[in-house]
Amino acid sequence: MSHLFEYTGNAFVDAGISALMEWCEKKHPQELTEADVRKALPEIATLFSQEGWVKTFYTTFSNGVMVQPSNKGKEREKWLEFIGELVKELQPLGDQGACVACGRRNPVRIKKEKRGFLRSEVPMTSGSLNYYSYASTGADYCGVCAIAIQLSPLVLYRSGGKMILVHSSSEKAMLLWARSAIKNVHAQINLNRYSGCFSENFKNPQNALFQIAKKLSQDKEDWANEPVAIRIYHFTNYGQGAELGYYDLPARIFHFLNEIQNSEEAEDWYRIIRKRYYFQKGQDRIWLKTAEKQEEDYKDKKNAIYEGLLENRWIIKYFYGFQQRKSYARWALVQLYLKEVKQMDKQRIETIKRVADEIALVIQKDESDKPKRLGQLERANTYGNFRNTLRLIIKERIGNNVENPLFSLDDFAERLFPDGALGWRETQDLILFRLYEILHSWLQEKGFVIDEVEENRNSEVE
Ligand SMILES: [Zn+2]
Repeated sequence: MSHLFEYTGNAFVDAGISALMEWCEKKHPQELTEADVRKALPEIATLFSQEGWVKTFYTTFSNGVMVQPSNKGKEREKWLEFIGELVKELQPLGDQGACVACGRRNPVRIKKEKRGFLRSEVPMTSGSLNYYSYASTGADYCGVCAIAIQLSPLVLYRSGGKMILVHSSSEKAMLLWARSAIKNVHAQINLNRYSGCFSENFKNPQNALFQIAKKLSQDKEDWANEPVAIRIYHFTNYGQGAELGYYDLPARIFHFLNEIQNSEEAEDWYRIIRKRYYFQKGQDRIWLKTAEKQEEDYKDKKNAIYEGLLENRWIIKYFYGFQQRKSYARWALVQLYLKEVKQMDKQRIETIKRVADEIALVIQKDESDKPKRLGQLERANTYGNFRNTLRLIIKERIGNNVENPLFSLDDFAERLFPDGALGWRETQDLILFRLYEILHSWLQEKGFVIDEVEENRNSEVE
């Protein structure tokens, strides 16, 4: 006989499948049997009918059997009655069918009302029969997929008044997320204290997404060869109206975060992240002062680095302090970012680093009362300006009798400024980062830094 479950690509169904797998301690969807389903449902019904859980059903299954006023006190029984009808329809996956999730079984009807599923049973579908075309009443799901959807709250992540549904192309990520969420559920059962869907109080969905990635990469799994793209749906499904937003974490960013998590750069990374929480005031960003705050205070705030990563914007400017002339991390972290996120080729990364190292030598040779060339590199605000400063540095190196040229023509055209005037700012950022990393102590000794100013660029207009 063929099996009941396989991932479908439908986020709610897949969440329910991963929840059931973890609940029944199975490793693959295909291992779940009808006996597993029949055993798990009454246990899960007991959990769901606890007061803390019923509340979360308002957010996910508005007007569903759990929250109908007439079912008060009989939630467990009514849910089991509803789901019992679906259990009767359990069928192994076939070759084809009209279920909108699996496409391999035919949809079932809610018997009493002779209709398909509404928003009270399947979040984010329509709450009204009028929405559907004349031939169809309600959404078409098979019994198995409809049961899976009912189980999805086990692995939802509560985010303030909304819910987050985690979906990934990686089966391993789906299972490990289910493990995190259900671990929390079991803790509630053991303590006999029911708070509903798993929550760590990340009200800002982007922060939640990065927290989810962090939890996965903290798991001692080997993710190196597993492309993990994560999408979260941030939603409510209240009776008065549904809301839905989604956020994508591409596989290369997960890979980057995972590499950091398991490297010596993790501490620097999280310190840089903590500096970049902000709130918007008119046109300005007001950075939150990190020293006085705990992690709790950031969970609902925006973070410029997280936003930059998700929108594929350049973030190196956050890795150093301009006035302090200080890098907040080591080159290794920058290199990870360039390689994993920007997918910059190794030779280009190496060339920029080498050129910056050579420039550092020139700057240190300067005996005057200020680091003239460094100031020019910092102030350069056009491509021409920046190139001109490099030209002056080349001349100085020749004057210092250095044998090797600062860079070759190939380096210049292909590795330092491959996009010419378009991308030169990136090269400037990288060179400054590296110069500050090497020269900070020397600059400090010489009195070339503003030490006491704690990043007084409080606001920034982008
Ligand atoms: Zn189905």
